[in-house]
Amino acid sequence: MTELNPFQAHGEGRSCLITRRATFSSSHLYWLPELSDAENVARFGSCSLSPGHGHNYELIVSMAGPLSPDGMVLNLSQVKKAISSEVTNQLDFRFLNEIWPEFDVSNQTGCLATTEALVRVIWTRLQSHLPLVSIRLYEHPRLWADYLGNAMDAYLTIRTHFSAAHRLARNELSQEDNEQIYGKCARPHGHGHNYLLDVTVRGDIDARTGMVCDLPALQQLIEQIVVEPFDHTFLNKDIPYFAECVPTAENIALYISDCLVDPIKNIGVSLHKIRLQESPNNAAEVYTETPCLDQMPDRYQAAMS
Ligand SMILES: [Zn+2]
Ligand SMILES: [Zn+2]
Repeated sequence: MTELNPFQAHGEGRSCLITRRATFSSSHLYWLPELSDAENVARFGSCSLSPGHGHNYELIVSMAGPLSPDGMVLNLSQVKKAISSEVTNQLDFRFLNEIWPEFDVSNQTGCLATTEALVRVIWTRLQSHLPLVSIRLYEHPRLWADYLGNAMDAYLTIRTHFSAAHRLARNELSQEDNEQIYGKCARPHGHGHNYLLDVTVRGDIDARTGMVCDLPALQQLIEQIVVEPFDHTFLNKDIPYFAECVPTAENIALYISDCLVDPIKNIGVSLHKIRLQESPNNAAEVYTETPCLDQMPDRYQAAMS
């Protein structure tokens, strides 16, 4: 029996995940006809101001499958063509409320074109053309949504930052022992970082508002519970928890997750993940439920098996 040589066969049949990035610029307006002007403003803030506002969107499409005899999951020209004809050519420089019927709120089945609603509708329009695994849509470098093809279930991530000092040392050890473990990070007077914090929540997209949760409420929680108490502090001295627990990036991420999990549940979504970037070189990630993002979604597993 002759064995398949992957080099001769150009890898045919072996599996791989590929991603393709695309961009478009569109405007939208958050305004529901069943609410009064005052109610729209109260609910959606400046997003309700006519005639709307715009974003430079960035789309990341992940696909997976076995390689063709040409050594590709898909020919990239086919991927580009599907994304441009089904999505970007239709949306670029357009008003989202009017361009796709899914966002026509004069119709009872329409919903607001939020990031999470938009990424789900993009999935429905691409799914018959491409072997999708996940789609990410950035409305802004500090706000993005992920959709993995599961009904109304979507992930929304907010990026924020704070600056804080810390010292890595275990109180029960000598300075010498601490320096053995933590090196320069154990120096007695501490040092600081500009921390980047990504908070990812998961929930059902509301059929009318297009939202998984009230975004300003989520932003306010993160601000009140994390950013305001942490920013410009010396963590070991100013946050009681870190008087006893060594404030490594791992422990800071875990503590933030502990602090946010219940308040986030109270606004109707689940905290999915905390990612804390301490420097360009190191980050810590904590999942508060079964990990999905950046792991292996079911569809990826299926495509690989
Ligand atoms: Zn907007
Ligand atoms: Zn440090």
